[in-house]
Amino acid sequence: MNKKGLLLVVSGPSGVGKGTLMKLLLEKNPNLRLSVSATTRSPRPGEVDGESYFFLTRPQFDALIAEDGFLEYAIYGDNCYGTPKKMVEDARAVGQDVILEIEVQGAMQIREKCPDAVLIFILPPSYEELKNRLIGRHTEPTEVVERRLATAKRELLRAGEYDYAVVNDQLETAAEQLLAVIEAAKCTANEMKEFIDEVNRHA
Ligand code: 5GP
Repeated sequence: MNKKGLLLVVSGPSGVGKGTLMKLLLEKNPNLRLSVSATTRSPRPGEVDGESYFFLTRPQFDALIAEDGFLEYAIYGDNCYGTPKKMVEDARAVGQDVILEIEVQGAMQIREKCPDAVLIFILPPSYEELKNRLIGRHTEPTEVVERRLATAKRELLRAGEYDYAVVNDQLETAAEQLLAVIEAAKCTANEMKEFIDEVNRHA
């Protein structure tokens, strides 16, 4: 039988480059699966239903909550986001390592429900740098930028609660560090428990 795959949770403020980092990580490690979340927000240009997210109406989202279909869910901004259980459980059961790219409230729910999950926070090289990225990205109204900065500050305050913190300064370095975290997570005595027991049975 396959050993159960890891559950990895990645969070970080908007603008920190999580999306690009995840893409590179998946290219480097074919055993990784990125969970596709459900959301009630509208698709952005280029987003594909079933790939970027499962785009649901609020009643559809609520129905999934009612049938206990989410591993975690949270309200973020004006929208609901949740991790459908099935894909995560199926992939882990066949030994694939699954990444959830979710915000802080969801990450803390996962920590409660799945104590063996590995929580990783992606940090910007500095607050100043994040601010420049968030301001420079679009030509949006000041209040939108202000709100985004306030959210980013609130999220950065939670970074210390995670198991690992990786700085996304050089994309390549950050991806290598994430791979190293994943390798280390496979070698905890807890992860190796079955093997340890097996060796001891024959000792
Ligand atoms: P966006 O709308 O920009 O795609 O995502 C907004 C935030 O929701 C991001 O921080 C993203 O990580 C988070 N998010 C995406 N999917 C989920 C999910 O399934 N659960 C939770 N709790 N957060 C999610």
